[in-house]
Amino acid sequence: MSWTRRDVLRGAAAAAAGTAWRAAPATASAGGTAPAPSADRRNLHVAVVGAGVFGSFTALALRDRGVRVTLIDPWGPGNARASSGGETRIIRGVYGADSTYTELAARAFAGWAAFEARVGRRFLRPTGALWLVLADDAFLRAAIPVLAAHGLPHEELTTEAAAARWPQIRFAGVRWALYEPRAGYLLARQACAAAVEALVAAGGELRSAAALPGAVENGRLGPLRLSDASRLTADAYLFAAGPWLPRLFPEALGAHLKPTRQDVLFFGTPAGDRRFDEEHMPVWIEFGERLLYGIPGNERRGFKVADDSRGPEFDPTAGERLVAPESVARARELLARRFPALTDAPLLETRVCQYENTPDHDFLLDRLPGTDNAWIAGGGSGHGFKFGPAWGERVAATVLGERPVHAKFALARFPSSK
Ligand SMILES: Cc1cc2nc3c(=O)[nH]c(=O)nc-3n(C[C@H](O)[C@H](O)[C@H](O)COP(=O)(O)OP(=O)(O)OC[C@H]3O[C@@H](n4cnc5c(N)ncnc54)[C@H](O)[C@@H]3O)c2cc1C
Repeated sequence: MSWTRRDVLRGAAAAAAGTAWRAAPATASAGGTAPAPSADRRNLHVAVVGAGVFGSFTALALRDRGVRVTLIDPWGPGNARASSGGETRIIRGVYGADSTYTELAARAFAGWAAFEARVGRRFLRPTGALWLVLADDAFLRAAIPVLAAHGLPHEELTTEAAAARWPQIRFAGVRWALYEPRAGYLLARQACAAAVEALVAAGGELRSAAALPGAVENGRLGPLRLSDASRLTADAYLFAAGPWLPRLFPEALGAHLKPTRQDVLFFGTPAGDRRFDEEHMPVWIEFGERLLYGIPGNERRGFKVADDSRGPEFDPTAGERLVAPESVARARELLARRFPALTDAPLLETRVCQYENTPDHDFLLDRLPGTDNAWIAGGGSGHGFKFGPAWGERVAATVLGERPVHAKFALARFPSSK
C-alpha cells in the first residue's frame, strides 16, 4: 500500500481525536547502518523546517520510516544562532516526580547509543551528574522512585561522602547530593550535524534556505515560500524552528513561546591541574534558590558555568551575543564559593544562547491550529537537547498519526488556544 496525503490526514485526524496509543515501530539501528525504509511510505513527502536537534532527529526518524524528507535551514544544523548550537548540553534523568521526561530520558540514553553505533562516533560523554542540594529537596526526593522505575541508576550521598569523593568541590551549604552515574554531556552542535549527514546518507535532502509558511486555505497549509524565491510543496509540514517559531506563527504561538537570552561562561583551569577535567569531575548542578550548573572538560573550551534562570527576551536572528557583566560576576562568586582553586580563573570565552520557553516549560508538539497538514515541534525551554533521538522518534510517530497528540505537549493546554 502506498501512503497518500489522505492517509496522513486520516492518521492526523485520528490522532487528534485521541485514538488509542499504538507503539511506534522500532527504527533505530544498533548495527552501524540505517534501517531499511519501509516501502509503504515512499510516496509521502514531509518538509521539516529547522535543523536544530528537534528538526534534524525528527527528519532522520521520518526518513528511517521510509518517508521522503526535505530539511530546510538557512544557516545549517547546529549553527551559532540556534539553541542547539552550543558545544555541549547536559543529559540526565532527574525530572522530579514527572515521569514523562524521565521516561523520555531513558529512551534518549538508548537512542543516543543507537545513533552513535549507526554513525560510528561518540556524542555522549558519561561523566555522571552531581546534584548539590542546598535547600528544598522535594524535587530531588520525588525523582528517586521515578529514576528507579525507569532503570536509571542513581546514588544518594551524604555531604561527607560526596566531599571525600570530589575534594576539588567545596560542599559548604550542601545538605546532601544525588549522583546520576549514567548521565553526562552531549556534543551538541556536532550531533546535529551528524544527524543531518545520516539523513542525507539515507536519501534525505538538506536545503539551505529560510522557509516561510504558505497560506492556509480550507484547513490546509500551502507550499512553503523559500528565501531563494522558490516554493516547496509537501504532503505535510513540520515546523521545528526553535526560538524562531513565534515569528513564523505570531498569532498561534506569540503568546506561548518566549526566547530568552542565556549567558554561558568558560573559565580556564590551572595549567596541569587535572581535577577539573571530565575524567575527575562530573557535570554538576547546584540546586538552590537558583539553578547553577557546569560541565567539566567541555571539549577543551574551559570550565563551563551557566545560570538556568531565565534572562531577558532575546532576538535569535539579530541579537548581539555579548554576555552581561552581572553574569560574569555571578559566575565568579560561584567559583569562589564552590571551586576554590578556580577563584581567580581567567574567563576564556563567553557565549549567548537562547532558551525557547513555554510558560510551563513543557514542550510543544501539536498540529498548527486551523490546519490538518502542518505540525509544530518546539518549546525546548532550556532542557530539550538531551532528548534528541527519542523526541525525534516521537515527533515522527505523531506526525505520521502513529501516536496521538499528548495533552502535556498540546497547544490546548494554554487557555487562549482553547
Ligand atoms: C545556554 C543553553 C544551555 C542549554 N542546556 C541544555 C542542557 O544542558 N540540556 C538539555 O537537554 N538542553 C539544554 N538546552 C536546551 C536545548 O539546547 C534546546 O531545547 C534545543 O537545542 C532546542 O532545539 P530546537 O531544534 O527546538 O531549536 P534550534 O536548535 O534553535 O533549531 C532551530 C533551527 O531552525 C532554524 N530556522 C530558524 N528560522 C528558520 C526558517 N525561517 N526556515 C528554516 N529554518 C529556520 C535555525 O537556523 C535553527 O537551526 C540549553 C539551551 C541553551 C540556550
